[in-house]
Amino acid sequence: MQDTDKNTALIRNLTLFFGIFLLFTDVFFLLMGIIYEMPLMRYVIYVKLVINSANIFLILKKHYLLSTCIIYTVILSFMVVGVVCTGTSAAFQLYALGMLTCISYNGYLHKRILKKELPLALLICIHVLLYAATYLYARVHEPLYEVPRSAIDILISFNSIASFSIVILYVCLFHNVAIHSEERLETMALIDNLTGLYNRHYLLASLDHMQRDLSPAYWIAILDIDDFKKVNDTYGHNCGDYILREIASLARQTCKDCIVCRWGGEEFIILSAKSACPTQILETLRTTIADTVFRFEADSLRITVTIGAAHYDNKLTNDTWISVADERLYTGKKAGKNQVVM
Ligand code: GH3
Ligand code: MG
Ligand code: MG
Repeated sequence: MQDTDKNTALIRNLTLFFGIFLLFTDVFFLLMGIIYEMPLMRYVIYVKLVINSANIFLILKKHYLLSTCIIYTVILSFMVVGVVCTGTSAAFQLYALGMLTCISYNGYLHKRILKKELPLALLICIHVLLYAATYLYARVHEPLYEVPRSAIDILISFNSIASFSIVILYVCLFHNVAIHSEERLETMALIDNLTGLYNRHYLLASLDHMQRDLSPAYWIAILDIDDFKKVNDTYGHNCGDYILREIASLARQTCKDCIVCRWGGEEFIILSAKSACPTQILETLRTTIADTVFRFEADSLRITVTIGAAHYDNKLTNDTWISVADERLYTGKKAGKNQVVM
């Protein structure tokens, strides 16, 4: 499934979950209204039941933004009704806090996926004002109904569990979004799109990271495809791309214990921490490439590569180490290409 489809499905499921959750709470509060004789709560729930049922229909018709606004309004209005009926001791005001995480996540989803803007600042202002106003009202007015302590306990438990669940749900969702986005950005920043190899940025970062461990056992090699411009000119750019992917794949298969990166254009860098003889590995890679017949559409091509390599030396910086390998590559090119120069 595409990411956009997945995210749209997530919005749908979340909105649907909330819609159904509200219906469930309606049943609970209706029972409380009947058992503890709170007519106002009962009447409000009848209206809520109609709105919440219609809302499920809206969700199924994919009106997510409208539906989110309705859910938001219904919960906040019910918070006010709850405080008016039973006072602040039943913890109805917790919904105002719970809904903050909900609107923040929904605002994010709508903006990112549906490209629609939720008026976040306005919603947060309404939240804060409503929260303060409900408290002030409860300070000045007695609760409309005298409900027994046991009912207050049930309401506190229910409202706390519901509000905390909302907060925990959205905190977890945000956490996942943050981790997932960071991983994707990291992959995009460090992996070459065409070949799937690590890119120049990754190699330089790895070299910096390894700085303290570097020893003469390490070697670096620059591989450059010979006459690659001619490949593009003769067989087209798509064929050139295909050759780059194939060379990348052969380099990865042959140099198993090495870091293989696309340095740029038609150049690759191979870095190894193993003391195994680089000449042998690199010769194997060179001959494997030279012996391969690359087939692209109706064409068959032969490709050769020239490789310059250098062991690490304590006197070298990362840049000069790469330069030494590059100079050897240049020597190989001048000497007729299709060779490894150590
Ligand atoms: P030499 O043997 O001296 O290395 O010659 P060359 O033709 O390989 O080198 P040159 O630097 O003249 O040309 C490199 C070519 O690589 C030019 C550029 O169009 C091509 N190239 C660079 N990146 C890509 C790419 O991502 N895809 C394709 N298809 N071609 C690319
Ligand atoms: Mg080149
Ligand atoms: Mg080249």
